[in-house]
Formats: sequence, structure tokens, C-alpha cells
Amino acid sequence: AAVLEVDGLVKEYRNGFRAVDGVSWRAERGQVLGLLGPNGAGKTTTMRMLVGLIRSDSGEVRVLGQRVTPGAPVLREVGCLIEGPGHLPHLTGRANLAAYWAATGRPVAEAGLEEALQIADLGAAADRPVRSYSHGMRQRLGIAQAMLGLPELLLLDEPTNGLDPTQIRGLRSVLQRYADAGRTVVVSSHLLGEVEQTCTHVVVMHRGRVVLTGAVDELVAGD
Ligand code: ADP
Ligand code: ADP
Repeated sequence: AAVLEVDGLVKEYRNGFRAVDGVSWRAERGQVLGLLGPNGAGKTTTMRMLVGLIRSDSGEVRVLGQRVTPGAPVLREVGCLIEGPGHLPHLTGRANLAAYWAATGRPVAEAGLEEALQIADLGAAADRPVRSYSHGMRQRLGIAQAMLGLPELLLLDEPTNGLDPTQIRGLRSVLQRYADAGRTVVVSSHLLGEVEQTCTHVVVMHRGRVVLTGAVDELVAGD
């Protein structure tokens, strides 16, 4: 079965605007799937429904066959970075990682925290309070946080925001290794080149609808 199944999702905001208009797709084990589309396409709204941050008007999300709703979060199986990392600003980066890990209920592994700190690439700042961090540092801490305990499914909404080109390359190889280990990554982006370089599969959204899905190497013409 697919790791993530999205089936007929619809979201209309209270002002009557239909941000997501019946989208269906799936992500299989080992894929790095890019959710690609221009700003306003409905990517963040979709991501928010994938983890039960907001309720859909209709349709269904299943992670490992289990239905996701706002009443039934899936923090243990799904690591996510969606709409701001949500840190505790007075705690250090290291303490934030430890606190987040405890909150997920994911199994604790000794090596995990050090690995996450490497991914966050904070250097000595790991022991300083997060309120002193730049946007990029917070973003990297949020990505590291999402990966703690190696959840089956990793969902990152525009993770390259605030990263420099070297850090973007680093993230790319981290995500590819993550999927190569038999896990699944879903990452949103408004940049075609980014999806082409990072992802194995793509779902293209436009105005709340899916307009194209497929394997990146089949969609990108060879020469
Ligand atoms: P819901 O239908 O999920 O309850 P709301 O209409 O209550 O959504 O809006 C939730 C939040 O999103 C509010 O803080 C609102 O200011 C903000 N918001 C409203 N319109 C937009 C928009 N066009 N784009 C982004 N955010 C918006
Ligand atoms: P993307 O992540 O692809 O940029 P979003 O899901 O953030 O797209 O937004 C899709 C559309 O829904 C946009 O037109 C946005 O302005 C609108 N929107 C987002 N949040 C709200 C909200 N809370 N209330 C009303 N409209 C919203």
C-alpha cells in the first residue's frame, strides 16, 4: 500500500475561496515527491490537511492506511515542517530538538540527536537560545526536528526558504538518503529546477487542482 494516500481533498476557506479543489495522489515508499506549483496553487493548504492541522471539507488522507483528521494527529509516523517551525525561543537549539522529540512519542535513539544537530548545521549556536537565531537557522532546526527518530513520512513545506545554495545542496542529499533508506519524503516548492534536482516524483498543482503527476525522469525530456 502507499505510504500516503490523498483522495479527493477539498478545502474552502471561510471567505468562500476554494483553495484546494478535489486533489488525489499518492506517495510510495522510497519516493521523494515534489508538490510543485506557483504561489497560491494550494500547496500549503494541502500540506496542512495532510497532517490534520486543518479539516478538509471532503476527501480523505491516509498515512500507512490510517486516516488522518484534526482529531487524530500522526506525529509519531510523520515528521513535518509546515507553517513555521514552532520553536521554544528561550530554549537552546539542542533543547528544542530534545523537547520536540519527546513530544512526538517517537522511539528515542542515542545517535539521533547528534545526527539532527549535524543536519541543523548550527555549530556553536546549538547551545544558544533560539531567539538569537536567523531565519535560516530556525528553518534548519525545523527540518532537523521533523527528521528526529526517522519517521516513515517526512513532509516539508518550502524547506529551502532561508537556506543558502550550499545548504540547499546539503538538504538535497539528506532527503535523497532519507528516501533511499526506504522512507518517504514529500516536499513542496514553487521552483521547477529545485523539484527536478531533488525529487523522484512530482505532483503539479495549479489553482487548487492537480494538473500533472509522474516520475521526474519520465517528465523531463532527455537529450
Ligand atoms: P478557516 O476557514 O480555516 O477557519 P479563516 O478564514 O478563519 O480559515 O482564516 C484563518 C487565518 O488565515 C486567519 O488568520 C486569516 O487572517 C488568514 N487568511 C485569511 N485570508 C487569507 C489569504 N487569502 N491568504 C492567507 N491567509 C489568509
Ligand atoms: P501555496 O502554498 O501553493 O502558495 P496556499 O495553500 O498557501 O498556496 O494558498 C492557496 C490559496 O488559498 C491562495 O489564494 C491563498 O491566498 C488562499 N488562502 C490561504 N489561506 C487562506 C485562508 N485562511 N483564508 C482564505 N484564503 C486563504
